[in-house]
Amino acid sequence: MRILRFALYALSAIVLLGLGALVFLLKSYPAAELPESLKPSPAGSVRTLFLGTSSMAWTDGQSTWLVDGFFSRQPLSEVAFTRLKVDETQVGAVAAEMFKRLDMPSALSGIVVAHSHYDHSLDAPFLAKQYGARVVGSESTLQIAKGQDVPTTQIDAFTGSGRVKLGEFDIQLIQSAHAPTGFTGGFNTKPVFLPAHALQFKEGISFSFVVSHPGLGPGPFALIQPSAGYVEGQNKDIAVEHVFLGMGGLGKLSDAYIENYWREMVVGTGAKHVYLIHWDDFTQPLMKKGQLVGLKPMPKLLDDFPRSLELLKMFSERDGVTLHVLDAWQMVHF
Ligand SMILES: [Zn+2]
Repeated sequence: MRILRFALYALSAIVLLGLGALVFLLKSYPAAELPESLKPSPAGSVRTLFLGTSSMAWTDGQSTWLVDGFFSRQPLSEVAFTRLKVDETQVGAVAAEMFKRLDMPSALSGIVVAHSHYDHSLDAPFLAKQYGARVVGSESTLQIAKGQDVPTTQIDAFTGSGRVKLGEFDIQLIQSAHAPTGFTGGFNTKPVFLPAHALQFKEGISFSFVVSHPGLGPGPFALIQPSAGYVEGQNKDIAVEHVFLGMGGLGKLSDAYIENYWREMVVGTGAKHVYLIHWDDFTQPLMKKGQLVGLKPMPKLLDDFPRSLELLKMFSERDGVTLHVLDAWQMVHF
């Protein structure tokens, strides 16, 4: 009996220690030295405001559209232990600040959703209903929009690569790949009703977006690669000056993978300017009590941002490309 009791105590102690270590690891953030901040560029009419993960608001002064628009950014405890719903107060506050900073009326022509994981897709249907936008994404994303009562006439679902026009912007959707993080794959085949657990949001198709605007010449000027994955040759025939490069999970992948990713996205497209996105811990808010909050890198347990940043810095110097780590609320003018 005594031995059994001792074993039980020992087991509980081990479990508690393990949980403690896990919490510690999830709370420890790597120290990252960020490259010089973006200098204000001359105000052009086409601009984008970065809003954490791969969420960005694009405008030309006529119409505004979003990539993802994930603003709820629930704390880790909620993501792990509860079923999620849209934090409507927070999403509304971030959207209001976004329109103010863009100096644009509160209306959206569309929301292109990178893939259907919750950190890309959760808030898009709510924003679409609120600001009159079309939801653009895979059929897996369509089910998330349906689960939040977006009428099907307001959804553009793609089964592979495609193209959409939002105002004067032309956005090409390229079927790409998710970073190999262990949370990939799956397709939502039924409406995802809220509240829903984070794991119920299945990836669907991971898209890259190639953006053109007549004000910036006939060809595309920017590539947005939300997830740090790639399909070899996905960008052949695509030349752009700017790449918004997703970093999520990249720090845990091999040097060779990171270099191939860089080659595919940056060298292959001939880009001259790279802006790093999706490097941040998306369980931290973009605003707190009305104040804007800067981003923190992902915890060490999930990513190694300093390592991937170091490698990308090396490649950018080698290849003569400028590299910027975008912080939330930073604007890029073209
Ligand atoms: Zn994802």
